[in-house]
Amino acid sequence: MRETASGPRVLLKRLRELTAAPLEPQARLDRIVREIAGNMVAEVCSLYVLRADHILELYATQGLNPSAVHRAQLKLGEGLVGTIAASARPLSLSDAQSHPAFQYLPETGEEIYHSFLGVPVLRAGRTLGVLVVQNRTMRNYRDEEQEALETVAMLMAEMIATGDLARLNRPGVELDLRRPASFTGASFNDGVGLGHVVLHEPRVVVTNLVAEDTDAELKRLSEAVGTLRLSIDDMLSRRDVAFEGEHRAVLEAYRMFANDAGWVRRLDEAVRNGLSAEAAVEKVQSDMRARLLHVADPYLRERLNDFDDLANRLLRQLMGRGPEQIAADQPKDAIIVARSMGAAELLDYPRERLRGLVLEEGAATSHVVIVARAMGIPVTGQVKGVVSMAENGDAAIVDGEEGRIHLRPQPDVEAAYAEKVRFRARRQAMYRALRDQPSVSKDGVEVDLMMNAGLAVDLPQLEESGAAGIGLFRTELQFMVAATFPRAEAQEKLYRDVLDAASGRPVTFRTLDIGGDKVLPYFNPEHIEENPALGWRAIRLTLDRPALLRSQIRALLKAASGRELRVMLPMVTEIREIAEARALIDREVRHLSRFGYELPRSLKLGAMLEVPALLYQLDELMQAVDFVSVGSNDLFQFVMAVDRGNSMVADRFDPLSTPFLRVLKQIAAAGARNGTPVTLCGELAGKPISAMALIAVGFRSVSMSPAAIGPVKAMLADLDVAELTRLCDERMADPSMGSARDSLAAFAAKHGISL
Ligand code: PEP
Ligand code: MG
Repeated sequence: MRETASGPRVLLKRLRELTAAPLEPQARLDRIVREIAGNMVAEVCSLYVLRADHILELYATQGLNPSAVHRAQLKLGEGLVGTIAASARPLSLSDAQSHPAFQYLPETGEEIYHSFLGVPVLRAGRTLGVLVVQNRTMRNYRDEEQEALETVAMLMAEMIATGDLARLNRPGVELDLRRPASFTGASFNDGVGLGHVVLHEPRVVVTNLVAEDTDAELKRLSEAVGTLRLSIDDMLSRRDVAFEGEHRAVLEAYRMFANDAGWVRRLDEAVRNGLSAEAAVEKVQSDMRARLLHVADPYLRERLNDFDDLANRLLRQLMGRGPEQIAADQPKDAIIVARSMGAAELLDYPRERLRGLVLEEGAATSHVVIVARAMGIPVTGQVKGVVSMAENGDAAIVDGEEGRIHLRPQPDVEAAYAEKVRFRARRQAMYRALRDQPSVSKDGVEVDLMMNAGLAVDLPQLEESGAAGIGLFRTELQFMVAATFPRAEAQEKLYRDVLDAASGRPVTFRTLDIGGDKVLPYFNPEHIEENPALGWRAIRLTLDRPALLRSQIRALLKAASGRELRVMLPMVTEIREIAEARALIDREVRHLSRFGYELPRSLKLGAMLEVPALLYQLDELMQAVDFVSVGSNDLFQFVMAVDRGNSMVADRFDPLSTPFLRVLKQIAAAGARNGTPVTLCGELAGKPISAMALIAVGFRSVSMSPAAIGPVKAMLADLDVAELTRLCDERMADPSMGSARDSLAAFAAKHGISL
C-alpha cells in the first residue's frame, strides 16, 4: 500500500467525481471498488450491502469472481463479513482463513487471498454494509489503512442512504435502510398521526462529505471546537440560577468531552484523511455510537447521549444552523422522533406542522408528554432503538392509541391507517356536533365536563371542546417551559389571558405543583431526593418558600380583579396546610386592598385530594375548603403504592378495581354530606369507561384533557345513570370480583354506548 498521507484524500476526491459522474449505478459501483483497490494497492475490494432480510449481498467487487456479484450472500453474523456487520467493528487479519468465523464462498474464488481488512459501512451508528479489501500475501494492515477504508465507507453509507443503490435491488428485496420497521412502546397520548420523520437534534444531515481544501477544513474544525468550548465555559461561568442543578451537571459533562484529547485527535485525523469538518464529526460520532451501542452498562450509554449532543452542537456550529433554520426545513407533517426532550423544546416546533411525537424514553406523566397532550399530539413513548432506525424524511405513522410506531410502512399498513384516520375524523366531527349540546345522561343526570390546561396554547381548545370551564389549570407548566422563574407580570398576564378566554366560565388555578417529576431546571432543591414523589413538592415546597407562593397568589388576585377566582392547593396532606395557605392568601388580599387594587368578586379555595391521609379526615377536609378535586393520578399511585411513571408497575393495578372505586365513592359521599362540590381531574376522567365508573360512584363534575370531552359526552348521552349505579353497587359489594372494567364494558355493549 502507498505510504503517502494524501492517499485517502486523493481517493476521496476521485470517488466524489465518480459519484457525480453520469453512470449507471452498477457501473458506478464497479468503478468505485476498482478505484479503492487501486489506491490501496489491494487485489480485492468488495462491497457487501445489508438487506432488509438480514442478508449481506455482494454488490460489487474488484478481484473476486464477477459472476458472484448479487449472488454471494452471507447472513448477519456469518463469516468474516457477517461478523463485522453484526459487531459493527472492523476486522484486520493477516491470515483470514485461520479465523474461526471464516467461511469460504466457492462462487467468489477468494481462497487465494490471505490478508483481509473489512470495515462496517455505518450511518448514525447503524450498519448498512461491509467494505472489504484483500491481498494475496499475508500482511498486516496498518492503522492508517484501516482509517482510510473507514473514511471511504462513509461515502458508501451516503450512497446507500440516498437510495442510489435501490435500482440494483432484485425485485422484492429491500435494503436494510429502507426496511419497514414497527416498534411497540407505550401509549402516552391517544391519536394517530401520519407524516414524515423529523429527528429532534440527534443528527444534522451532512451533505458535503469530501474536503476541497484540507487545511481550510482543519482550521474550520479547530475554530468550531474552540467556539464550542468557549460557549460551554461561558454558560458554566454564569452565576445565573438558570444554570444550576442538573443542567449544570450536563454542561460539566459537555465541557469534559469538548476537552477530550482523544475525541479532538480522531476528528483531526478524519479531516486529514480527506473528509470535510462536518463529515469528520459525523464519522467519529458514528464509530463511537456503533461501539457503545453494544455496551450494556447504562452509565456508558448515558455518556454516549452526552457525546451525541455535543457532536450535534459542533455540527450546528460548523453548519451555522440555529434552531430557527431547523424549524424552517421541516416537513408540513412532522413526526418528531427523539430520545427524550424538554417541554420547551417541543414548543419550538410550529404546532400546525406537528403530527406526532415518538420518544425512546420518558413516562406518560413527563413534562413533554403533558404539553403534547395539551397540544393534542399523539405520543408513543418508551420506543427503544427508534432514533437510530429512523432517517429524517422517512414516512412514519404514530399510533398513540396502541403505543406503536411504523417507520417506512408498507402500503397495506399505510392504507389501514389512512382508514383509521378517516374513521377517527368522522368520530371527531360527531363530537364537534355535540359541542354545544348539554352534557346530560339519558335519564337526565347533568355532569359538568371541564378541561385541564396549563399553557396559553391550550386556550383555543376551550371553545373547540365545548368544555364547561377549566377544572385544572396546571400553573407549573409556565414555570417548566421557561428558562428562569417567570416574572410576576408574566404570570399575571397568563392568568388574565386564561380568564379572558374562559369568558365567565369557571377556571380553577392550581398553585405551583413542582417537585416530584416536575423539575425546574433553574430551581435547585437543596437535597437530591431518594423518593421525589414523596418528597419536597407542591404545597409542601411552596409553604416552605412563601415568597414563591405569595407572588403567584398576588398575580392571581390581580388577574382576577372583579371576577371569580378559584385557587386549588396540590398535594395537601393535613388540614393545617390549607389554613396556612389561606392565611397567606388573606395577607395578600389585605395588601392589595390597602394599595387600592380591585379584588376578585369572589374567592374560592379548594384542595386536591391526592394523599391518602386525607381519606381519614374527609369531613374536616370538606369543611375546610370551598371545593375538592381528586387528583386520581397521584391518589392512585399512593393508594396502590405504584409509581405512576414506572412502566414496569404503572399499569399493574386497575383504578377500576373495587378498592379504588370504594375510595372514590367515599369521597363523593363526603362531598355530598358536607355540601362541598367535589370533582376529579386526573387522567381517569378522560376515558369514557372510567368516566362511567366515576359517574356511578357519585361524581357529577370531572375535568380531563380537551380531546376527551367529546367521547365522554357521547358516552353520557347514551347512559342510564340509575341503572349503571345499581350495577356498580352490586359489583362493589364483592371485592373478590376484582376490576369492574369488564362489567362496565359489557354494560356499554348491551346499551349501545360507544367507549
Ligand atoms: C393528579 O395527580 O391526578 C393530577 C391531576 O395532578 P398531576 O397529574 O398534575 O400530578
Ligand atoms: Mg398530582
